[in-house]
Amino acid sequence: MNKKCPLTTGQRHKAKRLLNMLYTPGEIAEELGVTRDHIYKVLIPAGLPHTKDSRRHLWIHGPALALWAKGFDKVPMKLAKGEGYCLRCRKPVKVKNPLEKQSERLTLLTGECPVCGHSVSRILRLERIP
Ligand SMILES: [Zn+2]
Repeated sequence: MNKKCPLTTGQRHKAKRLLNMLYTPGEIAEELGVTRDHIYKVLIPAGLPHTKDSRRHLWIHGPALALWAKGFDKVPMKLAKGEGYCLRCRKPVKVKNPLEKQSERLTLLTGECPVCGHSVSRILRLERIP
């Protein structure tokens, strides 16, 4: 499992929109919709990159925060050939009676979970719409 992200998904999206500049904790709090306290007590202890100037003021670099937050994004699960993820069993399973379905932009593998019989499908190919 991944480390638990101290930011919500919405906050991570907001982090991506930060500008290439230094922010004060107050500004970051406003941009992300969190309290300043949250920054000092949760985000900085969790490893949020920051710098301090000679007057001990704390600054947070927008892109550095975004990059840090991105590190918490879920890594796609590795599935072996012929395997799919069963939502009911919550684990990868070998797909029973596999069938490939193709459409213009999508190739889907569908079948059944050998454990619980629930239908399992897996995207084999997905073309992104430019
Ligand atoms: Zn199952």
